[in-house]
Amino acid sequence: MENSSTRIRTRFAPSPTGFIHLGNLRSALYPWAFARAKGGDFILRIEDTDQDRSSQEAVDVIIEGLQWLGLDIDEGPFYQMQRLDRYQATIKQMIDSGKAYYCYMSEEELNTLRDTQIANKEKPRYNGTWRPEPGKQLPAIPDGVKPVVRFKNPLDGHVVWSDAVKGMISISNEELDDLVIARPDGTPTYNFCVVVDDLDMNITHVIRGDDHINNTPRQINIIHALGGKVPVYGHLPTVLNEQGEKMSKRHGAMSVRDYQEAGYMPEAILNYLARLGWSHGDAEIFSKEQFIQWFDLESLGKSPAQFSPEKLIFLNHHYIQQADSSDLAQRTLPFAQKEGIVFKDGQAAMGPDFVKVVDLLKARANTLIEIAQGAKLFYMQAPQHDLESAEFKENVLETIIPAIKEFTESLKNTDGTKESIAAAMKEILTKNKIKMPTLAMPIRYLMFATTQTPAIDAMMSIMGIEEVVKRLSIV
Ligand code: GLU
Repeated sequence: MENSSTRIRTRFAPSPTGFIHLGNLRSALYPWAFARAKGGDFILRIEDTDQDRSSQEAVDVIIEGLQWLGLDIDEGPFYQMQRLDRYQATIKQMIDSGKAYYCYMSEEELNTLRDTQIANKEKPRYNGTWRPEPGKQLPAIPDGVKPVVRFKNPLDGHVVWSDAVKGMISISNEELDDLVIARPDGTPTYNFCVVVDDLDMNITHVIRGDDHINNTPRQINIIHALGGKVPVYGHLPTVLNEQGEKMSKRHGAMSVRDYQEAGYMPEAILNYLARLGWSHGDAEIFSKEQFIQWFDLESLGKSPAQFSPEKLIFLNHHYIQQADSSDLAQRTLPFAQKEGIVFKDGQAAMGPDFVKVVDLLKARANTLIEIAQGAKLFYMQAPQHDLESAEFKENVLETIIPAIKEFTESLKNTDGTKESIAAAMKEILTKNKIKMPTLAMPIRYLMFATTQTPAIDAMMSIMGIEEVVKRLSIV
């Protein structure tokens, strides 16, 4: 238990090895929310010691992803590769104080030991040959073997911790062997760096994926050896994909950037991820502020969460619909540009006001791309119709042309609002005893060369009477 004066400090410690999916980001969201909820600090640490697999590009994706979701960091990014001296100094200290030792067992000897243990149906583990003990005679140091450094793990007793998610966990030290903390070339190993960092960074709560749960007893033992304070651990259950497999690139997961590029709103992703393993009563839709206010470790789910693209789309639709139209227009702009709409100083270079277009389209769109695609209709050149073509005749029946003409005339007397256009249409319908689609379909076709569009009165209002009259006057 932390005492009330301890400042809460959490961290996100990704390995920048290429692919950050939403499940990974959830491991950032919860510690971030916890730090924010408690007025503490959220730290970003880049675990880049696997130099073959780490890349700056992956680091950039992580940082961009956090920024995009609004998960602000208080300290960092810290890079483990820049802390190698610190790890090495700690290893030296541990050797000097008898908490770690050089082990000269060669690769071949280790393999033989392993094979024998497996053949005897034992769990493969290091047998402590080089572990110094009072009164024990160590073997002679062989020539030509570069030693690893091993941590002197306690031989008996249990490592016990109260996991914030999983409850009490107890692991016997007999299950753990002496962990290698430095490789033959002197580089520190993963579990060791994590411990040194968590201690140096005064991390009070380690909230991470439960794929790390097996590392925790080893890490706790090293923390004890270093005389550090053990943080609270909370291990989050895995995120499963729709098929019930562990979410991964190999299993078709999309990266954060993919979601950004597919026109998702960060609010929707944040809301979605928040609920993927945590709940507050039956609240499904909530703002970032509410989430922070409500977040606690007690309400983290114990069973694996399953990813549902439909729920995410539902939330994205919700946040699009709720968004302020001019803000939404700004966010849609890059997508609209990709669709070929030209902008100048943040406004559509020609054609109707982009904010009005977005305002109309947001009610039905699931993604920003859908808005951009829908907006295209408003900015295309007027269609070039061949009045003699069969297609044209099929869409604009001879018999409806008089009503269209009449409507075009009456449009000139409206004030251009959606309401006045709707009233004008209604009048023509009543007068000609026809139904809405009979008039609206050919109008759509004349204006946009398609019969599928959002509400036509709203579209006409946005296009402006002059342009509408021009497009309808070809008949
Ligand atoms: N670097 C680890 C990972 O990306 C996380 C380690 C931790 O959170 O302790 O899975």
